[in-house]
Amino acid sequence: METPQSSFECDCQEDSISVASASDKFDKCCSLQQNLSSEICKQASVIPNKSYLPWHDYFMSLCYLTAARSKDPNTKVGACIVDKENRVVSLGYNGMPRGIKDDDLPWGKVAAHSYETKYPYVCHAEMNAILNERHAALDDCSIYVSKFPCCECAKLIIQAGIKKVVFSELKPEPWEEQVPTRKMFSLAGVTCRKFIPSLHQLNLNVTDGIGSVSITK
Ligand SMILES: [Zn+2]
Repeated sequence: METPQSSFECDCQEDSISVASASDKFDKCCSLQQNLSSEICKQASVIPNKSYLPWHDYFMSLCYLTAARSKDPNTKVGACIVDKENRVVSLGYNGMPRGIKDDDLPWGKVAAHSYETKYPYVCHAEMNAILNERHAALDDCSIYVSKFPCCECAKLIIQAGIKKVVFSELKPEPWEEQVPTRKMFSLAGVTCRKFIPSLHQLNLNVTDGIGSVSITK
């Protein structure tokens, strides 16, 4: 940088600066301004990061928030489909088929006959997320799911063109029951990995019309 030697104007009003020449004053003012700028930048880079929600945590948080809509008393699952530009394309949770009242079909897991349990009836979160999107193609999208997908949802995910699966929890079923899902994903070129949170805690509070989110990293 070229330092002015004769005429020097500075906005700095700091009287305590002792300068021997215009050049010294210029250097000192620049130094003060740089320190101030770096301090502002430091604050600007630190303060937002404390409340910054990374993409992966954001999408998985949407899964859990969406799962809270489920009427299933035992298992609540949420799914979130995201395109390549990190735009949320669709959301879904497990529930009874459209148009059927929540009380018209059983929610139990065990009964004398399988048709008296919830299993033949409930639409899984992945299915609803895929079918809820009617306008955009899901090719090359990612799906975030709060639980590991069953083999039926795995087939839907593959057929929809989704290429990436991120799941949070493994279901308590025997390991063998994961094999068909993992095998189909592998053969179809769908990557499947477990969600690794970067947040320690995320609290959402909406009461009395006032919402707040606190994030602990
Ligand atoms: Zn499923």
